[in-house]
Amino acid sequence: MPENETRQPVRLAHLDAPSYSEWVSRGGATVILPAGAFEQHGPHLPMGTDALLSTAIAEVVAARCGAKVAEPLSYGHKSQQKSGGGNHLPGTISLDAAALIAQARCVIVGFLAQGVQNLVVLNGHYENYQFLYEAADLALGDLRAAGGGGPEPTVLLLSYWDYVSDQALAEVYPEGFPGWDIEHGGVLETSLMLHLRPELVQMGRAVSHPAAQLPRFDRLPVVPERTPSTGCLSAPDGSDARKGELLFSQVTQDLATDLRQELEIA
Ligand code: ZN
Ligand code: MN
Repeated sequence: MPENETRQPVRLAHLDAPSYSEWVSRGGATVILPAGAFEQHGPHLPMGTDALLSTAIAEVVAARCGAKVAEPLSYGHKSQQKSGGGNHLPGTISLDAAALIAQARCVIVGFLAQGVQNLVVLNGHYENYQFLYEAADLALGDLRAAGGGGPEPTVLLLSYWDYVSDQALAEVYPEGFPGWDIEHGGVLETSLMLHLRPELVQMGRAVSHPAAQLPRFDRLPVVPERTPSTGCLSAPDGSDARKGELLFSQVTQDLATDLRQELEIA
């Protein structure tokens, strides 16, 4: 690795184009594309929480693997009542599935067509996942149809909470884990934000309430009263920066290990 490599910014938006081009031309380049949402997260967390968290995780993982981070997809698919409180809430601005697929597909094709070998989509918003999968699949189809030589590129897709270990879960949720779908404005996101961006968290405004009781079906239009009045599906009770640090270090370490192994990179 050349000496100036360590001084290069990990965010591609902070890098100049000739250096980007030179980095890609060395072969084996890996770009991490964080995905999030613009979504209400209760009275104590900012609306950009999902993209802030996926981007922070991407930056640390990329630095460990010699990868770089693309600008996040900052709007996500429609918030659903059973996983994000609902798309009707003020402060939630979403994309239709077709718009999210189109946006992600363009970005993925863009990097891979320029010679990036591996594109890792790092999701931070529950409702995005299947549409990001569709975007990745269509993007690879676009590239195949366009032809071109060289080794076929690879796309990986993951949601960061799937990396939280059972041991970390037991430490963070001593009274039992409520499930990832209702972890909206709850202990995971609040603790991670307290660790990473404490200046954006207002714990004095956090409200304690029981976890949301939602039906097994989705009903459209939603019955707004079924979402707790805070907009959180589970309360942030017991959140702290120490839990956030534990989660962050465990997830970034295991994810970096996985990427190095799977993609055979630094
Ligand atoms: Zn969230
Ligand atoms: Mn979300």
